[in-house]
Amino acid sequence: MTDPLTPGATIGILGGGQLGRMLSVAAARLGFKTHIYEPGANPPAGHVADCVTTADYNDTAALEVFAAAVDVITYEFENIPTAALDVLEGKRPIRPGRESLRISQDRLTEKDFLSDLGIAVAPYKNVEVVNDLQDAMAHVGTPAILKTRRLGYDGKGQVRITASGQAEQAFSDVGKAPSVLEAFVDFTHEVSVIAARSLGGDIACFDPGENVHKDGILATTTVPARLTSAQRTDAVLLAAKILNALDYVGVMGVEIFVTKQGLIVNEIAPRVHNSGHWTQQGCTVDQFEQHIRAVAGWPLGDGTRYADVVMENLIGEDINRVPDLAQQANTSLHLYGKVEVKPGRKMGHANRVTSVLK
Ligand code: AMP
Repeated sequence: MTDPLTPGATIGILGGGQLGRMLSVAAARLGFKTHIYEPGANPPAGHVADCVTTADYNDTAALEVFAAAVDVITYEFENIPTAALDVLEGKRPIRPGRESLRISQDRLTEKDFLSDLGIAVAPYKNVEVVNDLQDAMAHVGTPAILKTRRLGYDGKGQVRITASGQAEQAFSDVGKAPSVLEAFVDFTHEVSVIAARSLGGDIACFDPGENVHKDGILATTTVPARLTSAQRTDAVLLAAKILNALDYVGVMGVEIFVTKQGLIVNEIAPRVHNSGHWTQQGCTVDQFEQHIRAVAGWPLGDGTRYADVVMENLIGEDINRVPDLAQQANTSLHLYGKVEVKPGRKMGHANRVTSVLK
């Protein structure tokens, strides 16, 4: 399919969390239907989508029915099993494409890819077995962070190493899984670029946001980020380089460490990103609509920032602050409809507009 989708078409979304939910709302605004594929019961995206398939990613028959029911397939998380993609591939376009998933599913592949593009990443070394770890520590030095190559998110599957004696314990702590040891980056702050690329190859980046993490989980994103004009341009250019190299279609989050020596890419996420939620109140076209436009083959929209915004994640018991937040001026609430409150669980977010640009 190369023609743009017309309203009434159905966008299939793999994954039914809050990102899928907000993608579905954006799709509905453009007249599209959405069909969520999610193994878990009662997914947040299911509350606002037209159709939900509840099935495992190894259920070939369910995947085939899903593919037949949609016009294009996108996803809200990167760890979709390869076997599921094998079933879907060829039946409907998958956007962003499989290469983006292959690269972002494995931290080692991702770092090799970024390095080959000439983009700075923290010094890193592959760790397959515990003995590799001593060599890796000699290579990258300490302090360092051991991260599992696959399936880590929100600081999970990561352990910090400050002295060589901690190697064995650290490797046990990550479940003795194939990992990457990376040097601890002495950053001044963290930013991210939310970048979009259309089917025709046009690129539009949102203004970078400044991110603060607590316990490995994003706590706040603030725009504008503290960046010089040169750094802002560098950040946007490196994101564009990544998207072009992948012939990417859709929105990507590029997480960046700002150091005194320059910008270092931490990781890329081939999907809409938590640090792009501020765009809902800061831009005419937010990251969710931008992603839907791209995967539908539409032109990208105007993502120029017209406000200063602070996005705050509501994590776990933070949800109890909703009655108070609901009374605050210039504050927009986005709640995910999750019933069970768990520590570390993202329940919603609040976007506070701190100033509207003239
Ligand atoms: P990640 O899951 O890789 O996005 O890491 C989560 C957070 O841990 C990052 O946003 C940083 O705050 C911190 N972090 C991860 N890797 C490094 C590193 N190499 N050096 C310093 N801090 C890091």
